[in-house]
Amino acid sequence: MTTHKNRQTLLIHAPRQAPQYIETIQPPLFRASTIIFKSTAHLFDRHWTDAYDYSYGTHGTPTTFTLADNIAQIEGGRYCLLAPSGLSAINLVNSAVLSKDDEVWVADNIYGPNLEHLKNLQERYGITVRIYNPIDAGSFQPTEKAKLIWLEAAGSVTLEFPDLKNLVKKAQQANVLTALDNTWGAGLAFNAFDFSDEHLSVDITVHALTKYPSGGGDILMGSVVTRDQALHHKLFRIHAIQGISISGDDTAQIQRSLAHMSLRYDQQTQNALTVLTWLKQQPQFAQVLHPSLPDSAGHVFWKEICTTDKSAGLVSVIFKPEYDLAAIRKFCDHLQLFKLGFSWGGPVSLVMLYDLKTMRSLKNTHLQQGLLVRFCIGLEHAQDLIQDIQNALKQLE
Ligand SMILES: *Cc1c(COP(=O)(O)O)cnc(C)c1O
Repeated sequence: MTTHKNRQTLLIHAPRQAPQYIETIQPPLFRASTIIFKSTAHLFDRHWTDAYDYSYGTHGTPTTFTLADNIAQIEGGRYCLLAPSGLSAINLVNSAVLSKDDEVWVADNIYGPNLEHLKNLQERYGITVRIYNPIDAGSFQPTEKAKLIWLEAAGSVTLEFPDLKNLVKKAQQANVLTALDNTWGAGLAFNAFDFSDEHLSVDITVHALTKYPSGGGDILMGSVVTRDQALHHKLFRIHAIQGISISGDDTAQIQRSLAHMSLRYDQQTQNALTVLTWLKQQPQFAQVLHPSLPDSAGHVFWKEICTTDKSAGLVSVIFKPEYDLAAIRKFCDHLQLFKLGFSWGGPVSLVMLYDLKTMRSLKNTHLQQGLLVRFCIGLEHAQDLIQDIQNALKQLE
């Protein structure tokens, strides 16, 4: 090695080189915008558009490809693209799949910001957004302009489980791409690429890695998983030209958390089931919403492909109509272990309040009147969480 005399150069070119390979529990972390080519031959021979070749930081490093492969594997797919947030992953699908004058179908209980994004596309590009009832496959009536249907199992906030089987079959018959927001199931509750006794598969899964994979309530990321190579390349191209990229540090953090995601998921499921059993007995609630409950909308569809021991940590309650907004706010403000905030999947239990009247497009006869509170159950002891809710309910007496 040539020795350089100038300190300015020495500051940049360190004498110690990392060994080619040492074995550690966690894979080495790469941070890169520039990726150095060994020679011009290497530069001209690279195949970055086939994915998993190295070219530039935005296209990926061993750190991002490691996590991408891991997510693809967990979800039962083949290819995975990472995005800086779950919503960004959703937008990637919408931008890659939808063109002018296309029709897109969304479940009435879809993740709200996805609908907002689609409405924005509707205004600007003449895309038609149609809403269907996830528990009634008959309400999904694709025309020949239909390109995409968004599914979510279970749906946001009200947690109805969709008739996945019939919706996917109907979409396939009509040549409509199926995209599932898989954040709730996290790839653990069911395999979206091979579900039901008929081995049905969606085309695309999107996962807010911000939730269970991160598990810390501190890192944002999203993924788009597919099985079909042509579809992957279509998404990959948009991913590349939009400059969608993620930080190596964030990626490594999520990779590290994946090791115990299944343990956390199971524990949060158990905690949620314990809290849920107690909530069911409380007189203040008109309805407790969780797909495992036989009286919950979509329970039969949930039962077809999921099991109780993997049903996530989300539980919602609808207060009886005599509890007004002031009462619900008082309740939320008096919770101590449950913190008021969006998102879920972290160690700390969270609570959020919603007014259903402003959230749904269709008439939902299965939902009772009242204000809704969603609990995101964390990793605290379930009895302490119950005590916390009980104390806050006492404020309403
Ligand atoms: C949180 C969430 C998202 C969005 O993820 P962000 O990383 O917060 O953008 C998408 N879908 C569902 C179902 C979610 O819960």
